[in-house]
Amino acid sequence: MVIIKGAKSIGLATLLALSLAVAPTVLSGSLTSVQISSNSKPITYVHAQEEHSGEETYLRFVSDIVQQQSTDNTNTTTIQIPETAKGPAIPAEKGYLVQEIGDQLYSVSDGSYNTMFMVTDEGVIAVDAPPTLGANYLKAIAEVTDKPTTHVIYSHAHMDHIGAARIFPENATFVAQQETASELQRAMNLATNTSMVPPVPTETFSKNMTLKVGNQTLQLDYYGNNHLPGNIFIYAPQQKVLMLVDIIFPGWIPFPYLAIAKDTAGFIEAHDIALNNYDFDTIVAGHLTRLGTNADVGVQREFVMDLEKAADNANQNVSFSGIASQVGSFDNPWLLFSKYIDAINKQCEEVMLPKWESKLGGAEIFMLTHCFTMTESGRVDPTIQALFQD
Ligand SMILES: [Zn+2]
Repeated sequence: MVIIKGAKSIGLATLLALSLAVAPTVLSGSLTSVQISSNSKPITYVHAQEEHSGEETYLRFVSDIVQQQSTDNTNTTTIQIPETAKGPAIPAEKGYLVQEIGDQLYSVSDGSYNTMFMVTDEGVIAVDAPPTLGANYLKAIAEVTDKPTTHVIYSHAHMDHIGAARIFPENATFVAQQETASELQRAMNLATNTSMVPPVPTETFSKNMTLKVGNQTLQLDYYGNNHLPGNIFIYAPQQKVLMLVDIIFPGWIPFPYLAIAKDTAGFIEAHDIALNNYDFDTIVAGHLTRLGTNADVGVQREFVMDLEKAADNANQNVSFSGIASQVGSFDNPWLLFSKYIDAINKQCEEVMLPKWESKLGGAEIFMLTHCFTMTESGRVDPTIQALFQD
């Protein structure tokens, strides 16, 4: 459990989720001292005031908590984490782990965020730039090559994945799908301090792009909205590595509300696209403790299909008039509706938990949110209603 003095009690996973939701400044203003309680060893985190932007401070805070928890042998929560949710230890003295995952292709992780970079005989192709890694990303690259970074690819526009992109040389080629470039340009147009916005991509594409640099190749593909418009599949064919961010959560259930997917049907479909269109052994998914495999995508696909079924059944079984008669009055429609949604979510959760709480980390923490997203999508989205028919 995490106790935030002078603020409110917030679970670790919620903090991670908030970081995913790109609302990093929500808490940073009120955080001065944070204590993580454990049985024998309280860990205190005090952020350095005014040294970093609110966002940097917040993201560092999240990352530090994850690292402290992963190196703490005592059980800091009452919930058992499945073995499959655990990942390699992050060297505490460095704060990051760099691993070769294919020929000259490397992953780099700080325990809460991960990404990858590729060394070519002409320079380095870096993907994303999570602020939690920040300058450690450059150290990780320098560990394996002294070549300059010539290309930077953005998986999508979310700041928690690309917010540190200005660590790379200004004259690098910044590559992204058009939607990502448009979103960053929109931010740039509004920003009073434009240095906070990652460089707007100089090279964009609509559907596909093959990036060949020296002896190496990356295939970039866009299939439409899923987690966010512009979120792409990044594939290294020689290495059989796929990168897809904020869709797959190896060993864990997704962050709340299906990882705040902007398009529920696109989020679901992305599982099949990954499995059917790509021959991969490793998936770099952007978050959490470990890299994934083809099997992890299969497991999460099964989770999502179970969720579809549970949500559809709950939508059909819970009667609105039954809830209305319990409440006894129609004076406050939102009260009625909230009781109705609660009943649907509860029923969906009760069906999902027995199977999934021992299989995926965090199931009991976030299941209600996934039930909410799927049942609400099933209520209003034509494509989800069509999926429910099968
Ligand atoms: Zn995202």
